[in-house]
Formats: sequence, C-alpha cells, structure tokens
Amino acid sequence: MRLILLGPPGAGKGTQASVIIKEYNIPHISTGDIFRANIKEGTELGKKAKEYMDKGLLVPDELVVSIVKDRLTEDDCKEGFLLDGFPRTVNQGEALDEELKQMSLELDKVININVEKEVLIQRAIGRRICRDCGATYHVKFNPPKKEGICDVCGGELFQRDDDKVETVKKRIKVYHEQTEPLIDYYTKKGLILNVDGTKPIDAIFEEISEALQG
Ligand code: ADP
Ligand code: AMP
Repeated sequence: MRLILLGPPGAGKGTQASVIIKEYNIPHISTGDIFRANIKEGTELGKKAKEYMDKGLLVPDELVVSIVKDRLTEDDCKEGFLLDGFPRTVNQGEALDEELKQMSLELDKVININVEKEVLIQRAIGRRICRDCGATYHVKFNPPKKEGICDVCGGELFQRDDDKVETVKKRIKVYHEQTEPLIDYYTKKGLILNVDGTKPIDAIFEEISEALQG
C-alpha cells in the first residue's frame, strides 16, 4: 500500500500514521520527523531546516525532495510506504510523481484529513511528543496516563518549538497558500479520500481502513 497523508498542521496525520503503519506493515516517512531528528543530531541539514521551521515556513523544496527520493529507494519501502507531511507543495508532488514513475510504482490513496482552524490551533498548542519514541499525545484530547510521561516507553514528553500559537497560525496560513492546492492536484488523479478529522481518533482510523479495503 502506497499512501500519502495530507492535511493542515495539527489535523492528526501523525496520530493516524502510527496506527495505519501497523495495520499495513509499511514504514512511516514523516519529513517533519526527519528534520527534527537532524536538528537533534546537529547536522547541516538540521541547521538549515530549523531556520525555516522556527518561523513556521516550509523548508525549500530542493532540501526536502532529495531526502524523500533517497528514502523511497530503501528496502523497507518495497511493499509500500506512508508519506506524512510530504508532499507539501505542488512542485514536491510533481517530483514525487516523477520518482514513482521511474520506479514503475503508483500511489494507492491520498488521505486528506479535514479540521477547521480553531480546532487545529487547540490541537497544536496542546500537543506533546515523546523525546524517545516519538509517540504523540495531547494534554486534553489524548493525555498520557501519567502527566509528562510516555505510556509506550516511559520517555519524557516535550512541546515542539513550532507549536507556539503564533507559529501555528503562520503554519496554517502557509498550508492554505502552498499545500492546499495539492487537494485539487490529487482529486484530478482520482486519489483523494476525504476524512472528517474532528471525529475521535479510533473512528477516523476505522473510516480510513474501511475505505482502503473497499
Ligand atoms: P499532525 O501530524 O497532522 O500535525 P498530530 O497527529 O500530531 O497532527 O495531532 C495534533 C494533536 O492533536 C496531537 O496532540 C494529537 O494527540 C491530537 N489529535 C490527533 N487526532 C485527534 C482527534 N481525532 N481528536 C482529538 N485530538 C486529536
Ligand atoms: P510537521 O512535523 O509535518 O508538522 O512539519 C514540521 C515542519 O517541518 C514544517 O512546518 C516545515 O517547516 C517542515 N517540513 C516538514 N515537511 C516538509 C515538506 N514536505 N516541505 C517543506 N517543509 C517541510
């Protein structure tokens, strides 16, 4: 299964990704996670990406596209993959199409998670992530059993630097301007699966898996 998760920041892409990859046994490729790992390791890529991420801007296409192209050629992508947060511009979408064409592969579905702006802001500012395993929580909507501690691995939870209210608003604006045109792009290709992202986490996953089976 070759899938893309599309949607504004805070829509629940990462949350759904964590269950979809288990169901289909495919790797989770999150460009945001790749950048955050590079920032943590202090790489040149991480330093460049951080300049954009802290401002709520997109990292330039030329930095993102080559990373994803390389990742797709790795062995664990042979049976499929789930792209989360990529593509984020039509230019990235076209580059992905080109790469898949060269690999003689096709996408199965683009899952588009819809959530209105006010909810997105509440979700992003309450988001907490495990420093060790990357599991995602929300202080109100999806809290861990013990405050500040990951249920899965016992790691410490932290708030992303770009989950401050002003940066979140900027990221939502950037989404409308640069990423939303991809909905039209994939609708024309007959690949879009629209999902109501305001439902409970389990109900959204059920809707996605039913649609992918059908
Ligand atoms: P994205 O990857 O699209 O930016 P996340 O998956 O990180 O979004 O979710 C953003 C925040 O919203 C997280 O704190 C997450 O726990 C919470 N969340 C995700 N899905 C739902 C949902 N269906 N209902 C309520 N909260 C949710
Ligand atoms: P995410 O974890 O998907 O919310 O991404 C966090 C940040 O990483 C974004 O706000 C961008 O600055 C950057 N980023 C992640 N994926 C991409 C992408 N495909 N293109 C450009 N920037 C990206």
